[in-house]
Parts: sequence; structure tokens; C-alpha cells
Amino acid sequence: MIRPIPAIEAIPAMTPFVGPEQLMRESGRTALLRLGANESAFGPSPKAVAAMSQELERLSWYGDPESLDLRDALAAKHRCSPEQIVVASGIDDVMGLAVRAFVGPGGTALTTRGTYPTLVYHVAGYGGRTVYASYRSDGTIDVDALLEIARRERPSLVYLANPDNPSGSFLSRGEIRRFYDELPHDSLFLLDEAYADFVDEERLLEPFFDDRLIRMRTFSKAYGMAGARIGYAIATASNVQTFQKIRLHYGVNRNAQIGALASLQDETFRCHVVDETKRAREDYYALARELGLGCIESCTNFACIDLGTAERATSVMNELLRRGVWIRKPGAPPLDRYVRVSAGTAEMRAEFARAFRAVLTEASV
Ligand SMILES: *Cc1c(COP(=O)(O)O)cnc(C)c1O
Repeated sequence: MIRPIPAIEAIPAMTPFVGPEQLMRESGRTALLRLGANESAFGPSPKAVAAMSQELERLSWYGDPESLDLRDALAAKHRCSPEQIVVASGIDDVMGLAVRAFVGPGGTALTTRGTYPTLVYHVAGYGGRTVYASYRSDGTIDVDALLEIARRERPSLVYLANPDNPSGSFLSRGEIRRFYDELPHDSLFLLDEAYADFVDEERLLEPFFDDRLIRMRTFSKAYGMAGARIGYAIATASNVQTFQKIRLHYGVNRNAQIGALASLQDETFRCHVVDETKRAREDYYALARELGLGCIESCTNFACIDLGTAERATSVMNELLRRGVWIRKPGAPPLDRYVRVSAGTAEMRAEFARAFRAVLTEASV
């Protein structure tokens, strides 16, 4: 009889993510207002689209396995050397490499219950164990709880996202630095900066290199290239060398390399997206205020609106879906009483606001 290895067989059957396509198939809809996955409503840079379109014919070629042009450009952006950058098919891919290299079978990883979930899937898939801290009641990452558990459990890897998803909350440069300094010295700090492009650089952890620190960035959010699947890690040359041993040499889409490079050269477009996103967040805060609901202050391209209880948040989400509006909600307390709405264009926001008001006033939620 054919069986997977025990670590995989022990994982309960699950679908990691029910996407909007599946929801459309289930409901027979041909379109949804797509505000559930923090995709950019503002698209990729027109310059990236042009560069990728021009190179489409060469999709018969593999990309440069070293992604060197892109790494050179990223090294200039982050004022480091290309040896300190590794490109992969998104942060999700980098996380898999980190877990495989630094956690592995029997190893321990530490994270916050209910935060961005991919790390936990990888830890289970590679036969490790995850231990959890909880969010603080205000929806921020509880760095002190993480530190306390880290001292007790001695995890080989500690993960947090800053800004965080799904809360949108942000830890200051000083708080992140203190957290890093106080972590046990045998724990690697895996810092997910998927939303860093929405935050002024001087508010982020300062650039420095140490084997205990791996930072991850992506072109999926502010650069609007989620479907191209491309992201990267900033790490010591030694950690990059480790990833080089195990990453797929052709794991990065050639067109994504081209689009990412062109995106980096279009800072005007990124600033436009950041401005539009700020406007979107403010619209959502105003909408919540109008309806007497609270929000978590967000530094990302989404906002969380407080519906008081997990049950109400779930029924509002389901009722919106019935009306063709796709949003999501955090699964674990204390954030499960919120719904999370991605930044849309002005038209998308207006459509969301109409449906949200209607659901809260007409439907019995
Ligand atoms: C969206 C998101 C990711 C996924 O990034 P990819 O580069 O698309 O894999 C990772 N981390 C967080 C916190 C995210 O919100």
C-alpha cells in the first residue's frame, strides 16, 4: 500500500485557502467584487506591463536561474550586495525554504495564532511543530508573549509580519529592534515585510545583516504582481548560500523577473499606489465610523472593521458574499470579530460601502 511519509499523513485533510474562483463556482457567479486577498486594485505598473508584454514571445526560454539583473536592482534599492538577496516565487516560497533549512523534521517554530498562515503549513509539511503566542486584545502582535515563549521553547525560528496581516497593525522600528535583540540567540528571526512598501522606510527596522535575521519582501502587494509570483529575501550571504542549495533553479517565472525589474524602476507608480491605498483605508475608517463600528489602524492595503462578535463578523461576510462582495475575516480570537477588507479603487469602495451599509441595516446580522 502506498502511503505518504508519517509527517504528511498526520496532517488533517484541508484546503489551505478557498479562493474567489472556487466561491464563484459554488455560487454560480461570473464575477465578485474582489476585496478578499489584499491584491492590488491598482494593478501592476504600466511600465511593467509593457516590459512583460514585449518579452512574452520569449516565454519559451527559462529565466536566468540567478535572477541577477533583478538582484542587482534590489541590492541597489536596499544598499546591500546581490549576494545578500535571493529571489523566489513569492514570500510563500521563501518561507518554505526557511522552514526546510532551519526548522525541518522535529524542529520548532514560533508565531502568533491567527497571523498570516503559510509558515504554519510549511512547518507541518516539513514535519516540524509550531508553538503560538496570542495577539494582544487590541490586535497588535504581543512581542513580550513571543519573547517569553521563545525563552521557554527555544524555537529554531520565530516568525512575525510587520506590518501584520490580518490585523494591519505595525510595530515601530524600536519595538522590532528590541524584540530581535532580546530573542534567544539560537532563534532565527524570520521577518515578513510583505507590506513594507506601504510604510516610510525610516519607520521600518533599519538595514543590517546577521545570520539570525531573514527579511522577506514581495512584488505581490504594492507592486500589484501577485499573479506573477515573485518575492525575495534579504539575508546574510551565508543564509542566501543555504537557500541556493535547496531552491528550485527554475522556480521563478521569467516574465515575473522582467516585470519586477521594470516595477522597481517606476517609483512614481508605487507612490501613486501608496497614496491611493491610504485614501482607501481612510474611506473604510469613515464608513465604519458612520455605522458606529471600530477599526484597527492599518499600515497596509486593507482594513479590519470590528463587528463586535465572531458570529456577527461571519454572518456579515457571508451576507456580503451572497451579494457578490468577497471579503475575508480572521479566524482566531481576538481578531475573529473583525472583517478584513482590501483597498479597492474609488468605484470598488463605493460598491463595497453600498453593500456593507445594506447588509448592516437590512439583513438580520
Ligand atoms: C500576501 C502576503 C504574503 C504572500 O506573499 P507572496 O509573495 O505573494 O507569496 C506573505 N506574507 C504576508 C504577511 C502577506 O500578507
